[in-house]
Amino acid sequence: MMSRILKLEPTVVNRIAAGEVIERPASVVKELLENGIDALASRIKVEIRKGGKESIRVSDNGRGIHPDDLELAVTSHATSKISTSEELFRVHTLGFRGEALASIAAVGRFRIQSRQKDSLAGSEISVDCGRMEQPKPCGCPPGTMVEIEQLFMATPVRRKFLKADGTEFAHIAEQFLKLALAHPRIHFELIHNGKIVHDFPPVENLTDRVAAIHGREFVEEMIPIEAQSGELRIWGYVADPSHSKANRKGQYLFLNGRWIQDRSLQHALGEAYRGLLMVGRYPVTFLFLEVPAAMVDCNVHPTKIEVRFRDPQQVYRLVLSTLRKAFLASDLHAQLQLGGTQTPAGLQPTVNPAAQAELQRELVDWANNELTISIANDNARGFTPPSFAVASAGAEADPEDHSFRFDSANDSSSQMSHDGRSPTSAPPTDLALKVMQVHDCYLVVETENGLTVIDQHALHERVMFQQMRKKMESGRLESQKLLIPETVDFSPEEKAKLLENTELLKQLGFEISDFGGATVAITSHPSLLRKTDLAEIIRDLAETFFEGGQKPAQHDILEELLQMMSCKAAVKAGQRLSIEEMESLLAQRNLVDHSHHCPHGRPTALHLSRMELDRKFGRLG
Ligand code: ADP
Ligand code: MG
Repeated sequence: MMSRILKLEPTVVNRIAAGEVIERPASVVKELLENGIDALASRIKVEIRKGGKESIRVSDNGRGIHPDDLELAVTSHATSKISTSEELFRVHTLGFRGEALASIAAVGRFRIQSRQKDSLAGSEISVDCGRMEQPKPCGCPPGTMVEIEQLFMATPVRRKFLKADGTEFAHIAEQFLKLALAHPRIHFELIHNGKIVHDFPPVENLTDRVAAIHGREFVEEMIPIEAQSGELRIWGYVADPSHSKANRKGQYLFLNGRWIQDRSLQHALGEAYRGLLMVGRYPVTFLFLEVPAAMVDCNVHPTKIEVRFRDPQQVYRLVLSTLRKAFLASDLHAQLQLGGTQTPAGLQPTVNPAAQAELQRELVDWANNELTISIANDNARGFTPPSFAVASAGAEADPEDHSFRFDSANDSSSQMSHDGRSPTSAPPTDLALKVMQVHDCYLVVETENGLTVIDQHALHERVMFQQMRKKMESGRLESQKLLIPETVDFSPEEKAKLLENTELLKQLGFEISDFGGATVAITSHPSLLRKTDLAEIIRDLAETFFEGGQKPAQHDILEELLQMMSCKAAVKAGQRLSIEEMESLLAQRNLVDHSHHCPHGRPTALHLSRMELDRKFGRLG
């Protein structure tokens, strides 16, 4: 049965999460795509001009709107999808607020044409910034076409705040991709300024849609997951850690076909990948949660991207345990990392699952005995540091700053403040006897009451981060001019984003300029970065800028960029260190705050007590 559109009772209206729906062209595209999907279209075409500022047109071949309902369709709080407040708590469609078309029609030159399959003709209605004209018959194919020109024309200030065409289009493409991923059986097309940007023919399953977007090779390396807990089901794919990104852009999370953002589940993902990814890298995941409509409230956010689960803990646990199990069962190329949380798991790729399980039990054992970590929310921004027992690494605190750099590729060692003392003169003399490097990755240090294993990269990163932040805060992050600018190519959207942020980059020691075409020239760079890393870093920076719909605070961005740069600048796992370098790093350990965890909250060190050793070897009663 085809539902007709009804105006919602005021009591229902009052219960709907209110707020701005149309923030930018991409919001229009999202709402219109959702309407096409709700109308059971098998084909949806999106045509954009000038980043959506000139025009946005979305046409579908769905079931169309009854001619008598067309006026209601563009009226506020009129919908065919729910009619009572109770239904708000069991929403089965993407839309339910009955507000999108009205909001869109209020902010530009709007036109809708629609025809139901068994009607001979369609009808159309035009609305000019909220002024509705009489509906009239029109010729059109079955389905619905909505067009909006000159978005925000009545509010010049808002229009002015729109970003460059390329940037706005990139946001549109992002919304488009999300919905295209969630609905592989629908044919989606995206056209910008007359050029086809994406054309995804209908496919049977997610795999084929992901392949259409990211390529076959990518798909072949993905790890399928599937699990059920009560009425909760999760399925999808997680990418091999080698396909990580510098932002959360690759984390697709869908709830009953709706793309959602959920901090707690982002945290679960981070936990699941703990130890498998470099700091500052985010996993690529396509996760689909299926939850009975009554177990989730979709009516908490005006644009419906946040939801409230009735039992968020259950969802968290399911995501974490499913991913962990998937990783343990697959052959990942990861280094062993002791991650201690609710599920402290060390993943050793080369051993069989049984041995892995054994290893994991060992680690859990160890972690539980020696390491009490309480994770609050260590996501990229504003993490709460985990607190856990860490013993001093032997080197006693030396109050003087004797920064050093490992990086010998860059011959000028005076770039980081160097107070003239040789690093080797700083640590206590007996330290040399008590530290060794294992697997070119960890430092094992004897301590007064046991031993400490330190992740060399994580610690150095922490040290770098602290130093860079201090310098940045005092405006002294040294920058180095390049005689010959380094040029890097970008997509138009990324380039636009980068150039928008030149001031921010300057604070970090980067100077860039438009080199014409797709190219950006780096003219100065932070001294402590290797020149060979610049292109990669600036690419990651562009990706980072690109993240998120809402604009993060400048402070958060800088923190994140610093984290990224310190990660790049720090010594890597797999790098052999001289005894002097080890000593110097250990000496600095006590100079930085929170030396026991890296900027992203991963532990940099684990402690094994003498008592524990004795117990394990049966020396204690
Ligand atoms: P909502 O989607 O929350 O109901 P909208 O303002 O987006 O609110 O749409 C209002 C109504 O117009 C919908 O409930 C639906 O009945 C009808 N409608 C909108 N777009 C389409 C479409 N593409 N195809 C069929 N019906 C549509
Ligand atoms: Mg809608």
